[in-house]
Amino acid sequence: MTRILLLGGTAEARTLAELLIADGLDVTSSLAGRITDPRLPVGDVRIGGFGGIDGLREELANYAAVVDATHPFAKTISANAVTACATAGVPLLRLERPGWSARSGDSWYWVDSHEDAAATAAQLGGRPFLTVGRQEIDRFIPDLRDHAVLARVVQVPETPLPTGWQLLTSRGPYALEDELRLMRDHRTDVLITKDSGGEHTWPKMAAAEALGVPVVIVRRPARTAGVPTVGDITEAAAWVRALSTVSG
Ligand code: NAP
Repeated sequence: MTRILLLGGTAEARTLAELLIADGLDVTSSLAGRITDPRLPVGDVRIGGFGGIDGLREELANYAAVVDATHPFAKTISANAVTACATAGVPLLRLERPGWSARSGDSWYWVDSHEDAAATAAQLGGRPFLTVGRQEIDRFIPDLRDHAVLARVVQVPETPLPTGWQLLTSRGPYALEDELRLMRDHRTDVLITKDSGGEHTWPKMAAAEALGVPVVIVRRPARTAGVPTVGDITEAAAWVRALSTVSG
């Protein structure tokens, strides 16, 4: 049976694993191991890095195809997958949820880096709601040290945060009424996010709009060109099914 490596760490990857396993396909989901208590997909799971491009290429000897369903901002593993799959001759599909650029926001400030986001937010308000994740949080400290930041993360960051910052640990998806309450209670005057896209974290954007709060959005990193890419889980499942039919 065709064995599929599903690079995950996203809700889309978990749903895709569920669909493919329900079809009787042999799927192994791969997680980076960043979170100590991750949401696990159904089926086989491996956790931890592969050891760069070479490690991933060696691992590919066990698989007939790879679906890269990692987060839009996980650029290293995606780039590694492109190189490793090309050299190992293993088909690769990228599943990437559409970004928010297609939606309009009256007060959205697009920036190219987390540092630019910090500088822009510092100009826009004194009480930022920071929702870029634990890994990037350090990059906001220089510009926002003296601001009343509410930082929401899945897991407590290793770096100590400035004393005026408030840390909130939680995991989405979030409901609009909860986001409205949170932002009202904190008196948020600027929201900082990356262009994660999708619906799970969209309610904070809707809440910002409803409250008249400006949003600073970090653009997605550039992707390797030429990789077959779909934005929809059912399209990704169809790609895997077609491949499984061909290779038996
Ligand atoms: P990254 O910077 O692209 O990757 C750094 C290294 O982590 C990779 O070189 C690889 O190590 C390992 N790695 C990443 N994803 C992996 C996976 N699915 N399976 C096995 N190894 C993986 O990744 P990141 O931005 O830290 O994200 C890590 C994971 O968290 C990803 O699975 C991603 O889907 C998920 N995630 C990321 C974000 C985000 O904002 N970046 C948000 C939500 C979820 P080796 O080189 O040793 O193979």
